[in-house]
Amino acid sequence: MPKADKIIIRGGCLIDVDRHAAPPTDILVIGDSIAEIGPPGMPAPSDAKLLDATNRLLHPGLINAHTHGMGNLSKGSADRWTLELLWVGAPGFMANQSLEYKYLNTYLGAVEMLLKGCTAAYDLTFGYPTASVDEISAIGKAYMDVGMRAVVAPMLADFSFYQAIPGLLEALPERLQREVAAYQEAPHESTLKMMRESLHGWSHDRERVRLGVAPIIPLHCSDALIAGSAHLARDYGVVLHSHVAESKVQAVSAFKRYGKTLTAHVDGLGLLGPDFTVAHGVWLDDDDMRRLADHGASVAHNPGSNMRLGSGIADARRMLELGVNLGIGTDSANCSDNQNMYEAMHCASMVSNVRGPDYTRWLGAEEVLNAATIGSARALGFDKIGRIAPGYKADIVFLDLHKVNWIPVNDPTNQLVLTEDGTSVDAVMVGGRMVVQGGRLIGCDMGKLAREAEAARARLAELNGPAKALGAQLEGIVGSFCTGLSNAPYHIHRYGHAH
Ligand SMILES: [Zn+2]
Repeated sequence: MPKADKIIIRGGCLIDVDRHAAPPTDILVIGDSIAEIGPPGMPAPSDAKLLDATNRLLHPGLINAHTHGMGNLSKGSADRWTLELLWVGAPGFMANQSLEYKYLNTYLGAVEMLLKGCTAAYDLTFGYPTASVDEISAIGKAYMDVGMRAVVAPMLADFSFYQAIPGLLEALPERLQREVAAYQEAPHESTLKMMRESLHGWSHDRERVRLGVAPIIPLHCSDALIAGSAHLARDYGVVLHSHVAESKVQAVSAFKRYGKTLTAHVDGLGLLGPDFTVAHGVWLDDDDMRRLADHGASVAHNPGSNMRLGSGIADARRMLELGVNLGIGTDSANCSDNQNMYEAMHCASMVSNVRGPDYTRWLGAEEVLNAATIGSARALGFDKIGRIAPGYKADIVFLDLHKVNWIPVNDPTNQLVLTEDGTSVDAVMVGGRMVVQGGRLIGCDMGKLAREAEAARARLAELNGPAKALGAQLEGIVGSFCTGLSNAPYHIHRYGHAH
């Protein structure tokens, strides 16, 4: 076996999140992990390579608890839309993606995340629309190629959006009912078979890129698909993720269909566990949160997306209070519209403040930063990332303290959450290997990436023209139907406006 590379990082200041400090600290990296942390000048093996981190603030790589690599080619493609209108519009930009486009979409997002200090992501990827075993492997390869960690969780569904919302299909004119029948999903048997084959044949290094299983939204899944997903994930020891109570439309629809909340419904199907993450959870009530906490489950809090889609303001304080593990995510680039974890943290902090005037219930910067690192790591199921500590993977972000965000340095924890926007990222190390240096991604030709992405965008716009036109016909009807559902009474309130 070749001898592991040794790197001694000297001259940097290491964030101490809970103490709101960043004392000068040296870090010894051996192979892909942190071996030792100590005061400046601590002894290091003579064959360790020196890495000068003078004027650098070091923080653990941020971990994106919820994104969709499939959305990067469609960033900024719509302005005012709700989650349900995003569903209406989705075929207009999501359909007709070849294996190459699925790879490119994912690669593009991974590039952005790394450049903005994020070293691992939970990617709910193609599955909807269907993906093949080869395509899912290519999506995993995008993360391998770019050099970041990921959980790649294909989204599984056996009901279309139009079947998922009770009464919606019937509200459409017959002509449109016939048109949307084309969006019928594959039966759960074939979907689960594809997922099992992917899990069985996964060839990427699981320390870097793993699979997860994501029954997309409970309303879009039969009971058999949800229970089957849980069994499959536990057979293979991988994590589970689902969008639960993201919008009020979903929360209200759950009572129409199941007579209970979505969380209670999936609890009954065996989905909850320490390996399970709820995406968004805006409309979770106390009982839902207690169920999640009792099972050791996580919530991926996506405050930017929740505002962007008008889904509401999740009660992250209550989740923490009741013992739910909290991670932070960006969500997809078509509903947030970037992959910037600094911005996601900033949003998480700000949006907790507008929930009410009792400032003692607002999220502290240290709580937000811990959620975006340690909390997200737990959701991803990677147990040795999210901290800079001996035994943990050497996933380290180096911020340039001579960038204006850090002039002067008053409080490193506050400034990471409230001031930093990604423009200070100078270098990023993943598993002891530098992947970003001088603010550039090593081995990535941005000009070539831009040309490929532009060509793909133009081609997809052409191919998806008819789907987009159909979406335009559906928008008004679906929009008013769903706004009606959103105005129905519900036992908790998460919108910004008064009851
Ligand atoms: Zn999502």
